Amino acid sequence: MSVQPTLSGGDRTTKTEIRFHDTMSGQTEPFVPLVPGEVHSYTCGPTVYDFAHIGNFRTFVFQDVLRRYLKSRGFRVIQVMNLTDVDDRIIQKSAAAGVSIREYTDKYIQAYMDDRRALNLEPPEYIARATEHIDDMVELIQRLTAKGFTYTSEGSTYYRIANFPAYGKLSKIDVAGMQTGTRVDMDRYDKDNARDFALWKAHKPGEHFWETPIGPGRPGWHIECAAMALKYLGDTLDIHSGGVDLTFPHHENEIAESEAATGKKFVRYWLHAEHLLIDHEKMSKSLGNFATLRELFSHGHKPSAIRFLLASVPYRRQLNFTPESLQGAASSVERLRNFVSRIRAEKFPEGSSPAIVERAAKAKDEFDRGMADDLNTAQALAAIFDLVRDANTAMDRGEFRKGDAAPVLEVMEMFDAIFAVLRDDDAEKLSALGISPNRHSLSDAEVDAIVAERQAARKRRDFAASDRIRDQLAERGIILEDSRDGGVRWKRK
Ligand code: AMP
Ligand code: ZN
Repeated sequence: MSVQPTLSGGDRTTKTEIRFHDTMSGQTEPFVPLVPGEVHSYTCGPTVYDFAHIGNFRTFVFQDVLRRYLKSRGFRVIQVMNLTDVDDRIIQKSAAAGVSIREYTDKYIQAYMDDRRALNLEPPEYIARATEHIDDMVELIQRLTAKGFTYTSEGSTYYRIANFPAYGKLSKIDVAGMQTGTRVDMDRYDKDNARDFALWKAHKPGEHFWETPIGPGRPGWHIECAAMALKYLGDTLDIHSGGVDLTFPHHENEIAESEAATGKKFVRYWLHAEHLLIDHEKMSKSLGNFATLRELFSHGHKPSAIRFLLASVPYRRQLNFTPESLQGAASSVERLRNFVSRIRAEKFPEGSSPAIVERAAKAKDEFDRGMADDLNTAQALAAIFDLVRDANTAMDRGEFRKGDAAPVLEVMEMFDAIFAVLRDDDAEKLSALGISPNRHSLSDAEVDAIVAERQAARKRRDFAASDRIRDQLAERGIILEDSRDGGVRWKRK
């Protein structure tokens, strides 16, 4: 395995070379940004016509893990995320609601930003609203027209795919074999060829439009991302990411637009997240099988558990979403939080034990190795849980010493810089969203399981953990009564 010096300055350790799977090459390749130490990254954001569902957040969490990992490796990350605040659905829905598209989308943008905060998604450096970049899109269309890549029909401007021979290189679709009638674009305007797509859509009576040098109308979806990516990140980006469904036609069309205009390679690494499934089907608005974050929150699920679940399955693996997996994620987060509070609260004998210090160094190395391998979060997590198990055992045996706390906590900090679940602020986050944690949402079996966990903590004299669990249960309306013989009974408030 090749190594490269760490970019984070100070320490002299060597770190594993970062490798990402690039959809264009179909290979997992060493990640080397164009400008050393700096990553220019574009994230396809949501179409803000409704609340985002947790399938969408699977992709957004992946993009956050990607960003946080690169930062933890010392890169300066410049990330742009767009908000698609004009499209067919937005126009229809805002008209049906009798409000402007601005007013309609403001509400969902606010909700999306609040949801992002609840999931600890770091804000990208630029959040770009499509409707605030109409001039940039018009300019890009004019550049394409000047180079002979467009034609107009009934007031709309189309991209002529026949003039861009590389079309299809990302998604590997057989352009010649694409059938007429394939759904390339939502709107049915006259096109020379079914494969061509609209850059600019002519104004239709009653619809919102912009008066521009290329006529009255509104932009197509693909031109939006190309124009904003070029504006903020330059002609060549290091990373462009989204869910797999964006590979075709969206990203294929972005390549056609930007590369035809600049004559340069648009993106060096294309990263696509596999879908979140529910009952083995893609979660989507159109199938009606979706859950929003708020629905899950109001059923008593914690933001940290949802983030953990979404982050724990490596992004190129499909994630089958089940209530059990969410429950499992919640107890994993509990386990990790309890571990950290145990280290902070317990009194250990002076000194340090070389075995534990070494054990922590190994976990750190394995964690980074997992992450460097195309963000293999499952492998990285295994390293953390192995450390937690071994350190807990050492504590139970009285082999853990004062000096071991710092190196172990350092590993936990490294983990949390990316997973961001250790802070016990779920209740705060829910109340920021105006959701009161559903007090009676725990089933008897769930309460029994949590109480058993607390009994185990008491047995090993981990009183910090046992008190925490008692408080958490109290927060959810469960009162514990400890009996003298060490037993416990619980009741609902
Ligand atoms: P949209 O709001 O439809 O433009 O989608 C926003 C992001 O969510 C895009 O990157 C999509 O690829 C992604 N996405 C949509 N559905 C899913 C799903 N079920 N699982 C993972 N990502 C998804
Ligand atoms: Zn996009």
